[in-house]
Amino acid sequence: MNKITEEITGAGSIGITGHIRPDGDCVGSTLGMYLYLKKICDSDVIIDVILDDPPQIFDCIKGFDSIRKYPRRQPYDVFIVIDSSVDRIGESYPGYEKAHKTINIDHHISNPGCSDINYIDPDASSASELVYRLIDEEKLDKDIATAIYIGIAHDTGVMQYSNTSPQTLRIVAKLIEYGFDFPALIDVTFHEKTYVQNQILGRVLMESRLYEGGRIIAGGLDTQTMKLYGITSKDMDGIVNQLCYTKGVEVAVFMYELEPGKWKLSLRSCGLVNVAEVAESFGGGGHVRASGCNIEGTYDEVTARICAAIGRHLE
Ligand code: 5GP
Ligand code: MN
Repeated sequence: MNKITEEITGAGSIGITGHIRPDGDCVGSTLGMYLYLKKICDSDVIIDVILDDPPQIFDCIKGFDSIRKYPRRQPYDVFIVIDSSVDRIGESYPGYEKAHKTINIDHHISNPGCSDINYIDPDASSASELVYRLIDEEKLDKDIATAIYIGIAHDTGVMQYSNTSPQTLRIVAKLIEYGFDFPALIDVTFHEKTYVQNQILGRVLMESRLYEGGRIIAGGLDTQTMKLYGITSKDMDGIVNQLCYTKGVEVAVFMYELEPGKWKLSLRSCGLVNVAEVAESFGGGGHVRASGCNIEGTYDEVTARICAAIGRHLE
């Protein structure tokens, strides 16, 4: 793929979207692209970011307040899907479908890349890293750098997971030259939890169970418990990672009930098992070490099915 400037030449309207239940990389990469396009395009070009209910903690990124929930009815000249395959963009899909030209920028290994232009690199730490590659470095500024930094930091566990490459760190080095307060941004968007978030983390850890001789750990929350604490999916970020920090565990599973009998699963691997493959076998996807899928059944049935599938990969 060429630099993004070349791909949007002449466009009068541009839509940008990411995946449902947007995370830090999703918000950072889409807003980073938005801020950059706002800067380089004529002022009469319509540029929209469409995301469904992005977590409020990311309001420290410029442009957060202009995020739309739905695309315009009018077809966009260019529609850019970032950090997602086209089948996970939820309410943005009508905007994608009608657009004259579609672009997909992603780092998920499971993305088949079926847009007009596809820039899929599973070796990239994050979609935000790909956005950095596609923009003209000379046009970077503090706001764009902040957005991209937050995106990279969130998908790499603050530059710690194995997807962090020397190239990632070189990009991060250039970004922090813009002088934003990165320790505060990481505290607020990554580490800080509300009291109730910590309470449910404790509860899930306490009720978690080991399988396959301690090589799998699984825990979850049903709709009733979520209602009791007044929490939504956004409050559960990080729980699966904490489960994975259990000595001897190869794969951690965290699941929560979307509606009675329908579970959203998050999988994390220490490296031995490719959890993208496991998730794909249930119609989901993701990365080698972090993936997700949906499975129907009771908590015990779902646990039995996912542990059996992981168990086959452990052999
Ligand atoms: P998380 O567990 O944080 O929700 O997701 C981990 C990774 O797997 C993310 O990169 C996410 O985009 C991907 N992922 C999670 N759920 C699904 C799913 O249902 N389908 C696909 N294709 N990817 C998913
Ligand atoms: Mn990502």
